[in-house]
Amino acid sequence: MRIGSNDIVYCPSCNAQQRQTSWDTYMSYGEKYYTDGKKVDSAPGYPYYIKCRECGVFFKTENCVTKGKEGFRTSYGSPPQTDFLNVDGYRSAIASGLFNAEQEGSEAWKKDILNLRLELWRKFNDRIRNISENTQEVPELFESEDEEKAYRDNCREILRFLEEIADDESYLRRAELLRNLGEFDECRRMLDKIKDTEKYAAHIGVIRKMCENMNTRTVRIL
Ligand SMILES: [Zn+2]
Repeated sequence: MRIGSNDIVYCPSCNAQQRQTSWDTYMSYGEKYYTDGKKVDSAPGYPYYIKCRECGVFFKTENCVTKGKEGFRTSYGSPPQTDFLNVDGYRSAIASGLFNAEQEGSEAWKKDILNLRLELWRKFNDRIRNISENTQEVPELFESEDEEKAYRDNCREILRFLEEIADDESYLRRAELLRNLGEFDECRRMLDKIKDTEKYAAHIGVIRKMCENMNTRTVRIL
């Protein structure tokens, strides 16, 4: 792995700086795929939505980056590295909206909200992502009733967004959300809508098996 450059992310509200490392080239290995569509590999990636450490607004890094110089080294005094949001962070970002957000209701706005909701869903699922199927003691997905409600409400909201999209990716995602909600019959019916069953054979097989087991947890596919 080689560090390409350190970019600087500026807060669009107060101009505070954070550092974001771009990975120009890297060897990605150990790819793992999960039923919620997340792919995990050796590449660190970087967060798309962050919270300003100074003023606390949530914003999309995309339009707030100044590209750094090749070979820039981390040194004492450089700005802090950007962090991925946690469950509470995504919940707050969805509730408060993004700073300088697109106009509410626009296609770009819908895309951001959907992305934030997908990230929140997967961030919850991270808590049980690497637990073996054979493990007896599975950690709790929720730390409180409030979190459980937030998880379920979020799944329903994502389903609502995805209803407008009639393609295999959407059907697959919706099937998984329905399974997470314990609606196994609806999940199976959604899987039946997928046209390219060959392409998604591994996903469909795992989700169907989990339905038979009445298992609502996110699991690894490959
Ligand atoms: Zn700020």
